[in-house]
Amino acid sequence: MSEEKTFHLSSDDFRRQGYAVIDWIADYLERVERLPVLSRAQPGELRALLPEHAPARGEPFEAVLADVERLILPGITHWQSPNFFAYFPANSSGPAILGELLAAGLGVQGMLWSTSPACTELETQVLDWLVPMLGLPERFSSAGAGGGVIQDSASSATLCALLAARERATRFASNRRGADGRLVAYCSTQTHSSVEKAAKIVGIGAENLRQIEVDERFAMRPDLLAQRIAADEAAGLVPCFVCATVGTTSSTAVDPVREIGRLCRERGLWLHVDAAMCGTAALCPEFRYLHDGVELADSYCFNPHKWMFTNFDCDCFYVADRKHLIETLSVLPEYLRNKATESGAVIDYRDWQVPLGRRFRALKLWFVIRHYGVEGLQHHVREHVRLAQRFADWVRDDPRFELAAPAPLNLVCFRLRSGDAANQRLLDALNASGDLYLTHTKLDGKLSLRLCVGQTRTEERHVAAAWRRIQDVASTLRP
Ligand SMILES: *Cc1c(COP(=O)(O)O)cnc(C)c1O
Repeated sequence: MSEEKTFHLSSDDFRRQGYAVIDWIADYLERVERLPVLSRAQPGELRALLPEHAPARGEPFEAVLADVERLILPGITHWQSPNFFAYFPANSSGPAILGELLAAGLGVQGMLWSTSPACTELETQVLDWLVPMLGLPERFSSAGAGGGVIQDSASSATLCALLAARERATRFASNRRGADGRLVAYCSTQTHSSVEKAAKIVGIGAENLRQIEVDERFAMRPDLLAQRIAADEAAGLVPCFVCATVGTTSSTAVDPVREIGRLCRERGLWLHVDAAMCGTAALCPEFRYLHDGVELADSYCFNPHKWMFTNFDCDCFYVADRKHLIETLSVLPEYLRNKATESGAVIDYRDWQVPLGRRFRALKLWFVIRHYGVEGLQHHVREHVRLAQRFADWVRDDPRFELAAPAPLNLVCFRLRSGDAANQRLLDALNASGDLYLTHTKLDGKLSLRLCVGQTRTEERHVAAAWRRIQDVASTLRP
């Protein structure tokens, strides 16, 4: 036996310290609602407290964990707080955390089926489960020409969709010679900024991404979309892609997917449906109307890492015909050649995404779905929507306030009637209090506050306390 020194963590110490970390997380989740939601750290504050150089000698784990508490926690904005109502939820849950841990423990690279068959097959199966769970069209399941894949984010899903759309429109000429400047894509003025980023990356260019005007409910106007496509065609351009949103980030606007889809079919454009947060609502039959017309889409995505109790990162991306996506992204260097791939009997998910390597993300999603069951997930989604609707009622009943947009689900956009300056002071005072965290948007040119209910542990008492706080602060504002 070698007497050589090893620097590794021993198996016994790993167990001990692992239990300590789980205890730390469980304690954190119990106390997080009492912590100020928005971090009060100033720029550079943490860096000034950290040593300038890495330690030459390894340190005891206890010291590291103590520094998490002492140094890191003050710089954390508590996304897992039940008083977190900002942006969109990034909720998590016990089963998801444990699935994530197990994925790290297995340390698998799932780029090819052959690099870990279970990593690929579990992912295909769980994504197929979600098709009927969300009332998605059968063509998105792997049994037919389509299929689903987990991406790191909705931004990546959109990027892959736009790449495949570009290739379909140019019969793969862009892949060979680059995009030629005539391709045009469409979204609305309310579409998430990730579509603009994707347009830049794929070589369509931000100027060739048309932002179509919206109606009074902030949904894309299909008549204006049709006009713009016709004008672009008349000008010798090549319209290739439309992104429709089911639940915009700003205000939960739902674009008319069916009408947009018909237009895309007529003109041969790729339709991508971005349902990043709100797709989750379709777990409940009463919210399935959100997916009306999705059977006309070429691709679709939603984020379990927003509202389905699965910690970041986990975006489910579906295509109706996987052949375009795979042909767009497939490259096969000699060192990745293998019998399973050549047999054509397996899925190699590296051809469905931008990076080569991939994590075993399906594990946490599988844990979540098996733990909650469809009923458990439905229960919590319904509860979040119910709480947001109560909040909307309270806003309607207070004459100082108004709703800034329709609130069909779990996001309420509202504002004081007394103008932008008052709303800014209200928002700043609320967030400085630490009792809750809200963010803002602009709707009809007016500053509006957003309250989004979707945290795993948000209960009625948290939403009621938030509303009391909002009313109290509003009362202290001088006009
Ligand atoms: C949050 C959001 C995105 C971006 O999601 P990522 O997964 O962070 O890329 C895109 N579209 C919509 C509608 C969103 O709400």
